[in-house]
This record gives sequence, structure tokens and C-alpha cells, in this order.
Amino acid sequence: MYVVFLGAPGAGKGTQAAEIAKDLKLAHIATGDMFRDAQKKGTTLGLKAKEYMEKGQLVPDEITVAMLLERISRPDCAQGVILDGFPRTLAQAEALDKALAKQKKAIDDVVYIKVPDAELIKRLGGRWICRKCQTPYHEVNSPPKAKGVCDKCDGELYQRADDVPGTIKERLKVFFAQTAPLIDYYTKNGKLTEVNGQGEMAAVRKKILDAVKKGKPGRK
Ligand code: ADP
Ligand code: ZN
Repeated sequence: MYVVFLGAPGAGKGTQAAEIAKDLKLAHIATGDMFRDAQKKGTTLGLKAKEYMEKGQLVPDEITVAMLLERISRPDCAQGVILDGFPRTLAQAEALDKALAKQKKAIDDVVYIKVPDAELIKRLGGRWICRKCQTPYHEVNSPPKAKGVCDKCDGELYQRADDVPGTIKERLKVFFAQTAPLIDYYTKNGKLTEVNGQGEMAAVRKKILDAVKKGKPGRK
């Protein structure tokens, strides 16, 4: 089963994708995490990606598509995946459809997690992330029990370099220019469900789960 999570930066894709992947026993693949990981390791890919990420721009499709297709070909993705942060351009969406079609597979569902702009800006500004397990926290909305420490794994919390006001604005601009057209693309092929991303995390999660399971009685 292939599920795509669409949403602006700060919409809650990452948090929800991690939980729901566990619920549905799917691999959680986040291209942003993969790029950050490559940067930490100092690989060529990481260095290249950094140039774009720092500015809030997208890493070029060629690089991103190659990385993603290789990743989802690995054994841990055999039962299916939740894609978090990919595709982000029409070209990426088309490349993914083509690659899946070759294996007689297709995307099953796309969930668009919608959150108003003002709320996105607020969320990204106060975001802290665990270095070890990537769990996100928010200073005001969902603070950790102990300041600077992850509730789940005791890892150190940090603020992403691109979670600063100028870059946040650019990332939102990029989302509306380059990624929002995918809402149309997946609506036209009947795969999209829009979910309101505001409110309690657990409530949003339930709405997403319902969207993914709808009309597919055989699914667990
Ligand atoms: P957010 O959704 O909060 O912006 P991500 O971790 O998904 O966070 O992405 C961070 C950055 O990584 C993006 O701003 C972009 O530079 C790069 N990136 C992630 N996924 C893609 C992608 N599919 N295509 C191009 N660039 C990407
Ligand atoms: Zn952690």
C-alpha cells in the first residue's frame, strides 16, 4: 500500500506519518529526514541538498527522485510506505507514478493535511525536534516534559536551521507555487482526501486513518 501525505511545512505531516506508519505497519519515508541524515554524514548528496535547504528551496527533482526510488525499492518497503514530503513537484509525482506502474503498482491514497497559513507560521517558529528519533515538539502547543529533552528517547532537542522566519516564508511560498498543484493532480485521479489539520493531534490522526481506510474493507 502506497500512501502520500501532502501538506505545507508545519502541517503535521511528519508527526502523523510516523504514528500512522506504525499503526498500519508501513515504512515511513521522509525525504527531508533523508537529506538531513545525508548532511549529518557529510556525503556528497548531503552537501548538495544543504545548498537548497538552507534557502528554503527544493532540492532538484533529479537528485530527489533518484534517492526516493532507490529507497522505496528496499525490502523494508515491500509491504508499502507512507511518503512524507515526497512528491513535492509535478515532475516528482509523475516520476513516482511511472516507476510504480512499471512494477504494476500504484499510489492508493493521498491525504492532504490542510492548515491555515497563520497557524503554520506559528507552529514552525516554536518547533523543536529530537536529534535521535526526529519527534517534533512545540514550545507552546506540545512542549516536552523536560526542556530540551525528548520524552520518548531522552535525545537532545534542537531547532532546524530552516525554521527561521525568512526561510519559513520562502518554504511556504515554495509549497504554494510548486507543491500545491499536486492537490489538483491527485484530485483529478480520485486519490485525494482533504483532512483539516487543526485541533488535537489524536483527532487529526483518526481523521487521517479513516481517510486511508475508507472504502477499502479488506484493509487493516
Ligand atoms: P518541511 O515539510 O517542514 O519543509 P521537510 O523535512 O519535509 O520539512 O523538508 C525540508 C527541506 O528538504 C525542504 O525545504 C527541501 O529543501 C528539502 N526536501 C525535502 N523533500 C523534498 C522533495 N521531495 N523535493 C525537493 N526537496 C525536498
Ligand atoms: Zn527522541
